[in-house]
This record gives sequence, C-alpha cells and structure tokens, in this order.
Amino acid sequence: MFQRKRLLSVASRVHLLIPGRTMSSLDRIHFGPYEVTEQVFLRTPHSFALVNIKPLLPGHVLVCPIKPHKRLTDLSLPEVTDLFSTTQRVQRMLARHYFRSSQGRNGAPSESSQPPPSPDDGSFNIALQDGARAGQTVPHVHVHILPRIPGATDKDPGPTDEIYEQMAHEDGNVGGALWDRDVSMKGRPKPGGQFPRIEDSSRQARSLEDMVAEADIYRAVLRDMEEP
Ligand code: AMP
Repeated sequence: MFQRKRLLSVASRVHLLIPGRTMSSLDRIHFGPYEVTEQVFLRTPHSFALVNIKPLLPGHVLVCPIKPHKRLTDLSLPEVTDLFSTTQRVQRMLARHYFRSSQGRNGAPSESSQPPPSPDDGSFNIALQDGARAGQTVPHVHVHILPRIPGATDKDPGPTDEIYEQMAHEDGNVGGALWDRDVSMKGRPKPGGQFPRIEDSSRQARSLEDMVAEADIYRAVLRDMEEP
C-alpha cells in the first residue's frame, strides 16, 4: 500500500516536471553518479536545477548542465549560455521566496502593491568549483547558488567568509556518505586541495521527503513567476 502510494506520488511529480509524458529511464536525471530526479525543480533545454542534500544555508541550490560534463570548459556555447541564464532565473526565484522588499525602489517603505522581492533586495554567493583541487567532488559541473538573506544569513563582518571554506570541505562528508550508501560506486570520494579534511559533524544529510517538499515549493514559485 505504502509502495503504491509512493509510486503514485512520484508519478504525479514526474508529470509536473515533464507534462504529458510518463517516466522512462531517459527522463531520470543524474547529478554525477547520483539519481536526483525528484530533487529537480527546474529543467531547461540544456540545464537543470536541484535542491541540495546538505545545504550550507537555506536556499543553497545547484544548477547543472544536463550532459554530465566534468569541467566548465567542456560545455558548448549554448550550454554555457543556458547554464548561466538558468542561474539568473533561479536567483530571481530564490529572491522572491527568501528576500523581503523592505524598501521601495525610491527608499519608500514597502506596501502590498510593491513589486515582489528581486535579487537587489539581498545578496548571493554564486560559486563553481572547477576541478578536484578547487574542492569539486561531484564530477559533474554545478553552479552553487547561496542566497544571503538580509538580517538572517548575511556574510559575517570582516574580511573573510566561512562559506568558502565550508564549500571546499563539505563534500569530504557528502560524497563519502553517499558512497557509503551506494556500494555500486567505484572509489570513495575524497576532498581535493591541500588542506586537511575537516569534519562538519553538525550537518546532517537530509531525507528525500524534505528535499522533495522543498523542490515542490520552488516549482510553485517558478510557476507563479511565469503567470502573466
Ligand atoms: P562541490 O563540493 O562543488 O563538488 O559541491 C557538491 C555539492 O553537491 C555540495 O553542495 C553537496 O551538498 C551537493 N550534493 C552532493 N551529492 C548530492 C545529491 N545526491 N543530491 C543533492 N546535492 C548533492
């Protein structure tokens, strides 16, 4: 019974993703060696966006080319253009979901007739770790998008930002943890770079249900944005 319910809910989500088509193995989306179909909230001709299994901050998501290119320089011009225009589109969606327009465009207080929050109402870290020695552990190009929500997840004052350090080390945990779960993969991933691995034990991998719920929210915000 549970299995049937689960299959039905998966089928309805797939229908959302690719209207009018039933799921075949071709529709399944992979991020490196991991199947992430249910975490994907946006698909474009050459790219997809997915929620993160271990977000560093709320709204930390990834944008990838559909073809599993390992390095940025492997992408064709249409793929690069699509990857970064998708990144901009996801930024707009995250701004709308996480930011608040506290000020009108002319400094006036916001009112309900104000336009929805835009990327200008907060900040973002956009990062791409291109190669193992730069901290990349999933061998499939991915752009990290991290919204910095004003008053909540702003960068610490001072010259450094812990986020970069965390980004370079986190997959020592994530890749390893996923490998432990899937014994069919070859070779346990190791973090690259020359710094010793730092365990971040307070960060727990999330459940698929949590990630699916978040992907559902983002699909709804995107639909809302596209309405005339
Ligand atoms: P990098 O360190 O640049 O290779 O980043 C890998 C990113 O992918 C990290 O933010 C991980 O939390 C995330 N990640 C790894 N495996 C998965 C997965 N199966 N689903 C979603 N996110 C993942």
